[in-house]
Amino acid sequence: MPSLKNKLTFDNRFVEQLPGDFEPLNYARQVHHAAYSFVTPTSVAKPQLVALSYDVAQLVGFDSDDLNDELFTDVFTGNSLLDGMTPFSMCYGGHQFGHWAGQLGDGRAINLGEVVTPNHGHQTLQLKGAGMTPYSRTADGLAVLRSSVREFLCSEAMFHLGVPTTRALSLCLTGTPVMRDMFYDGRGAYEAGAVVCRVSSSFMRFGNFQLPANRQDEPLLRQLIDHCITADYPHLGAPSESVYLQWFREIAQRTCDMIIHWQRVGFVHGVMNTDNMSIMGETIDYGPYGWVDDFDVNWTPNTTDAQGKRYRFGAQGEIGQWNLFQLANAIYPIVGQAESLEEILRDYADSYQLAWRQMMAAKLGLLSYQGDDDNVLFHELELLLMTVETDMTIFYRQLATLNKDGDASDCGWWLSRLSDCYYRIEQLDDDYKQQFSLWLARYLLRLNNDNRSDEQRTIAMNGVNPKYVLRNYLAQQAIEAADNGDFSEIATLQTLLQFPYDEQPEFADYAKKRPEWARHKAGCSTLSCSS
Ligand code: AMP
Ligand code: MG
Repeated sequence: MPSLKNKLTFDNRFVEQLPGDFEPLNYARQVHHAAYSFVTPTSVAKPQLVALSYDVAQLVGFDSDDLNDELFTDVFTGNSLLDGMTPFSMCYGGHQFGHWAGQLGDGRAINLGEVVTPNHGHQTLQLKGAGMTPYSRTADGLAVLRSSVREFLCSEAMFHLGVPTTRALSLCLTGTPVMRDMFYDGRGAYEAGAVVCRVSSSFMRFGNFQLPANRQDEPLLRQLIDHCITADYPHLGAPSESVYLQWFREIAQRTCDMIIHWQRVGFVHGVMNTDNMSIMGETIDYGPYGWVDDFDVNWTPNTTDAQGKRYRFGAQGEIGQWNLFQLANAIYPIVGQAESLEEILRDYADSYQLAWRQMMAAKLGLLSYQGDDDNVLFHELELLLMTVETDMTIFYRQLATLNKDGDASDCGWWLSRLSDCYYRIEQLDDDYKQQFSLWLARYLLRLNNDNRSDEQRTIAMNGVNPKYVLRNYLAQQAIEAADNGDFSEIATLQTLLQFPYDEQPEFADYAKKRPEWARHKAGCSTLSCSS
């Protein structure tokens, strides 16, 4: 019988196939001509398991007995290793808020190894917050409970919403306190330390390619590109000139798909720096992200970005293209074919626009996108949603309840169905009501062009418009309870967010709009990068 210690099979392709750093000592430094550095997680005082994803555990090959083993908690806080693990941190750079930032790297992430899963795939296990690495720069390599709860809950919620994302296996307390200045006001305080184990087939970012490109280290750049294609894009075949282009095209397509999903569910990443862009097209690095409560394309949850709002909700699609442009620049010395790279970037813009329209058609319950008139309908709706404070999530669920033979000029009728989604009902003056009635009339007419019953449309809309998302204030409540040792809210949110499109009447309170007390409360509306 295998014990937990030798339960998993590792195939550590990244460290075996790519050059590593020769320096064995763990101190902050510039690392050249290497894709990673070996580094051992820092031991912690008192490991305690707080939450687990059973399906992720199963995906990587654990069974339920393993999860109760003390060794499990030790491994996923950094106190022990399983046989076959070769912990390492990756070397990468990136553009932060539009500016080249040089070497960044896994400052507090340590990859434990690549598991060969029961279904013969590869999944990398990565600890976030397990101590300093050569890439920690001036920081401590640690993570606090607050940000770890947010990463754990949100990445799993995104998965169940159907959004490409890294996943989370476990959330553990370390028992080691961590100093943080949450508001950057010089008033630091100790917070509980925590570690999340993230899981993905690859944790490579755009920045992994940018750094060797910036240093004109073409041999390393080529090795990284070829490795990524062979290990993570094997369906493209062996690396060649044409495969390089197909690879970049697929990354662009995946990035586009991911961001369209963000727009669909109302997710704002908050820090779309190129070091936070996954080469797999997955949502990665859950920091000061936020969920749109009242619909506003100009909203950003990240207080560090409050001035320029570079990463605001409505700009995410364009930022995706800007980031892809940086990736194209980085791989150009190896891939060549400048015109083809440019064409792929242009295609991104076209695909994004079309995909956005198709996504909006689906949100509105149209059978398909039918051209410019539909597009006008979408944009007019967005303006209306911004004119008065309207909860995005509730609006689309309520819209699905309207019958297409309703009388749009009857404000009493549509208001009775939609009223839950308005934050300040007094904002609905006569002018607004008239405009909404006009829009609604056109929308109902449009619905009548589709050969679909109200019931069928409701089902379709409820399949793309979630009822439950990880509202910022809900995460904050779970965090405050957890800080007091009560993990039940984390468990409840984890449970209900597994079925975000289902009615789940027993959880109806979690679908309500943000309460007034949360409007300006830190963590409930905006967040700093401190984590
Ligand atoms: P971010 O954009 O927040 O994902 O992080 C930017 C860079 O800072 C990455 O290289 C991170 O690894 C690093 N970083 C963030 N927080 C810490 C920390 N507490 N200790 C060490 N490195 C960190
Ligand atoms: Mg990051």
